[in-house]
Amino acid sequence: MRLLRSTARALLDLVYPPRCAACSEPIASGLFCETCAGALEPVPPGCARCGLPGPDPVCGACLAAPPSYDRIRAGGLFGGPLADAVHGLKYGGRAAQARPLGAWLAARAPLPPGAVVISIPLGRGRRIARGYDQAALLADGLARAAGARRRRLRGALVRTRETPPQVGRSREERLRNVAGAFAARRAIAGLDVVLVDDVVTTGATAEAAARALRRAGARSVEVVALARAD
Ligand SMILES: [Zn+2]
Ligand SMILES: [Zn+2]
Repeated sequence: MRLLRSTARALLDLVYPPRCAACSEPIASGLFCETCAGALEPVPPGCARCGLPGPDPVCGACLAAPPSYDRIRAGGLFGGPLADAVHGLKYGGRAAQARPLGAWLAARAPLPPGAVVISIPLGRGRRIARGYDQAALLADGLARAAGARRRRLRGALVRTRETPPQVGRSREERLRNVAGAFAARRAIAGLDVVLVDDVVTTGATAEAAARALRRAGARSVEVVALARAD
């Protein structure tokens, strides 16, 4: 079976050689070509909770109002090749990139032992327009790469209402925009949750989603995103 699978893989690679997730150059293996891999920017040190770059161990905003999630980790800073890869996944119809991107993320943000994997659901309208939910596919890829396919809880979190896009809003507006927009639909009491999204900006969406999971009894919620934007 394994031989069959690797043979199928090799044949597929002949027909569709793997390409860099950012610039589409053919590559031998991995996710990015050498040039793009060299241009990826790591997330600088910052707040232990929200992950925003800064000098304090925990930032003022998280001290004043501790978030519902325990921490946010991201594969890299949003920009350059990582932004190209995210755009390809979200707007370029490159759904096939989700699995390798999920594996790439799993290598940077290892899954805590026993944790379940849940994705932040896309609104219904946007999912229909795009034809897929990129965060759900990313979460599939991450769980698979971490050897935790059975701990991938699909449909565990749903949107209870459509929300206008977060782009161009302040942090406070974003928090209001998504407050109460999520609900847990599966039994998650006592579970450690890894919550997957493609890009985290202010963390307002992550906060609303994590709050719903906490309310449903999740023991911990760690947000894992491909990229951190500011
Ligand atoms: Zn490249
Ligand atoms: Zn913070």
